[in-house]
Amino acid sequence: MNLILLGAPGAGKGTQATMIADRYHIVHISTGDIFRANIKNGTEIGKLAKSYIDKGELVPDEVTVAIVKDRLTWDDCKNGYLLDGFPRNLYQAEELDKFAEIDGVVNINIDFGLLMDRLCGRRVCKECGESYHISTLGGKTTCARCGGELYQRKDDNPETVRSRLDVYTSQTAPLIDYYTKKGVILNFTGTEAPASVLFEEVKTALDRLAK
Ligand code: AMP
Repeated sequence: MNLILLGAPGAGKGTQATMIADRYHIVHISTGDIFRANIKNGTEIGKLAKSYIDKGELVPDEVTVAIVKDRLTWDDCKNGYLLDGFPRNLYQAEELDKFAEIDGVVNINIDFGLLMDRLCGRRVCKECGESYHISTLGGKTTCARCGGELYQRKDDNPETVRSRLDVYTSQTAPLIDYYTKKGVILNFTGTEAPASVLFEEVKTALDRLAK
């Protein structure tokens, strides 16, 4: 099963992605994670990506598309994959159509009012990528899952979040229509309920798709 996960920043894509990938034994490919790993390792791609990510803008399409095109040739994609954070605009979606076949698009709709607080209060584990909200951490600075250190992403600040949401609205949201027309969209609504509640709905839809 080859899937795409769509949704605004902070909609809960990362958490759903982990659960989907585990259940269906498919590989989770997050372009944001790929860029952050490159930044950490000081690669040329990392240096380029950082200048865009820090402003909340998209990394240029040629770079992003080439990374995904190569990544999908790896052996671990043979069982299927879940693209998280890609495509992010119509150009990327059209390019993806040239080298991939997508079975379903999990789209998480969410009230934008929830997102600023979610993103600015988000803390992420440096080791396993699990994310938390400061309101539930009670001052803890380590990951409950693996003990890794929690940190705040540099782009989780009010100014950058605003531009990420603008980019989502103008460039990424039109993909909902694009994939609706292709008949592959699966729509969900993100709420403040625990991620496991939404996952139950996602699971029901994907179980049906996997048959
Ligand atoms: P994310 O972790 O998905 O929120 O991505 C963090 C940042 O990485 C985004 O705000 C963009 O700057 C960059 N990025 C991630 N995926 C893409 C993509 N498909 N195209 C362009 N830039 C991307």
